[in-house]
Amino acid sequence: MADIIYKYKDSVYANITNKCNCSCTFCIRSLKDGIGSADTLWHTKNPTKEEVIDAIRNFDFDGFNELVFCGYGEPTCALDILLEAAKVAKEEKNLKTRLNTNGLGNEENKRNIVPELSKVIDSVSISLNAPDSLKYQEVTRPSYEGAFDKMVDFAKKCRDHIKDVKWSIVDVLPEEDIKRCQKLSEDTGIKLRIRHFS
Ligand code: SF4
Repeated sequence: MADIIYKYKDSVYANITNKCNCSCTFCIRSLKDGIGSADTLWHTKNPTKEEVIDAIRNFDFDGFNELVFCGYGEPTCALDILLEAAKVAKEEKNLKTRLNTNGLGNEENKRNIVPELSKVIDSVSISLNAPDSLKYQEVTRPSYEGAFDKMVDFAKKCRDHIKDVKWSIVDVLPEEDIKRCQKLSEDTGIKLRIRHFS
């Protein structure tokens, strides 16, 4: 089985599923099999809740104060595992928890999952990727119609229930698109992180 817990740069990550409801043109999964300490992040079979929890319990988090849910898949596609694993990370390992997500978890799970997330997730980073629906569809190729608006709605719900919420984009976007993303960030009061492409 692929690594469930792996280190990359200064953080520890949980790779809880390979399932995803997007097919982003830039997805790192099409470029290499693993990141950081993990030779591969492709599971031969998606891990069970028990396997993820065991991996967290058995990992030495010495020197780390946060666990980031982010791997070769969208964590909210394995919501029950995400919620239970985050609870264990907080209660048993005294860690902060961060969710990196494409923001389509409400659509995926057919309900508003933000109240449940807010109990066990301290910060959320949502991939904005584009300033409008048309460009978002082209870049992320989501499974759902109207996904941009659904992602924005999810971000606003997170803003209202979770202390630390950010959108992220990569600095390869055209300058005009970056400005429009900044405007959306200002209009919604959701911080925007512009990551350097590497
Ligand atoms: S949402 Fe994330 S895991 Fe899914 S295709 Fe896009 S970049 Fe890849």
